[in-house]
Amino acid sequence: MHEKTLVSGLLLMASSAMAADDRLLIKHGYVMTMNAQNQVYPDADILIEDRRIVAIGEALPASGAHVIDARGGYVLPGFVDAHNHLWVTTMRGQFRNAQGKFFPVSNKLGQKMQPGDIETAMYTGALELLNSGVTTTGDFFDNIQGPAWGDAGYQALKHAGIRAIMYYGGPDKTTHHPIDLTHLRQLAQRQDSLVSLGLAWRLPRNLNDAQNWQMRDAELKLARELRLPIQVHVSGDHDAMFNALIEHHILASDMAVIHATDATPRQLEAAQAAGASVVITPVSEQRVGYGLTRIDHFAAVQHFGLGLDGNALAGSGDMFATLRLAALTFSGATRDETLPDPMQLLRSATHGGAEALGLQAITGSLEPGKRADIQIIRPDTLAMSGFGGGDPAALLVYSAQPENVDTVLVEGRIVKQGGKLSGVDMQQVMQRAQQSAREVVARAVE
Ligand SMILES: [Zn+2]
Repeated sequence: MHEKTLVSGLLLMASSAMAADDRLLIKHGYVMTMNAQNQVYPDADILIEDRRIVAIGEALPASGAHVIDARGGYVLPGFVDAHNHLWVTTMRGQFRNAQGKFFPVSNKLGQKMQPGDIETAMYTGALELLNSGVTTTGDFFDNIQGPAWGDAGYQALKHAGIRAIMYYGGPDKTTHHPIDLTHLRQLAQRQDSLVSLGLAWRLPRNLNDAQNWQMRDAELKLARELRLPIQVHVSGDHDAMFNALIEHHILASDMAVIHATDATPRQLEAAQAAGASVVITPVSEQRVGYGLTRIDHFAAVQHFGLGLDGNALAGSGDMFATLRLAALTFSGATRDETLPDPMQLLRSATHGGAEALGLQAITGSLEPGKRADIQIIRPDTLAMSGFGGGDPAALLVYSAQPENVDTVLVEGRIVKQGGKLSGVDMQQVMQRAQQSAREVVARAVE
């Protein structure tokens, strides 16, 4: 079953890659570039050749190019979801507050997932992201119970056609077990333009456990030898954990600190001085009770991204919902209706996320030379109706939903068009997700 799915997935990829146009012209869009000046073109074209953006401007000549008419739509870089755990996608509805908290439930169900369940969850989750305009994800994969689990996750990301860093982690969320560094090294040696590897690292739960530090240090050493990006969670005893990162001189430009909801100014200054990134995930952080995620607290950090942290935990893979919560928490907490700047929020969800993943040379903005990771948002739903010309950035942050994402390109390949994912049998995808979810639950109660 598992192998058959993989084979059909690879065939699907091959056929859609062959069908990709080498030369594409997106015409007459309201282009929000997210470049250093957040430049906007009210009516511009984007020319794409060989998977890259080659020109942005008015009335670009491009004879022979395949044309996508973006008239009336907003053209943005694809969102960058800087931190996720896609393997929890098939646990939707399992986190039932008093009846089932996230950590014990996801640990229990996660242990019952076979490689095929991992593949289903991560593939479904990645499709959901693409459908919502997310073209890049940083996936913190912390349910790798053996090489087959790791391979299944990698294949799922490849099959979905999303750009991803797969941060390779251990078999669960504890820090008792080592990460399979041999397998990580093998996967990291694969050359792929979309999916690359990183390290999903954790500090010893007991920060005085010298033996555990040895294991964790070996993991860091390998990641740094292979020049892999690293993500680390600071949660639970977050203050001591962040301090440990500082005291052990672990922070560096290859590292993103995740969930630093309550980080102090001194800690954030240390992260910034080391060139490290910070990623916050407002919906999940508030859901599990870490506190109010105040994006204004992170102003000192240059590489700052937003993430979803598990589509099922966040409710859905909806970056607009994350933007909305971040905006409303900011204005509510500061009692200031004029804050935040919606364009700045969109920037965190695109260019900021790319910086947090170290992918800013490739994606996160619409500029010549970058890979064509693009979304076109159409305001042709009731929720976005009645716009007579105010601030398009505010319109997107406060009113847009995934259903408004009409077209999505990942590295010049059209993965969504006319509001539908290309080459995907949605009914089959959803049936598989439901079946896998049921089987995992059934195994967990046995
Ligand atoms: Zn996380």
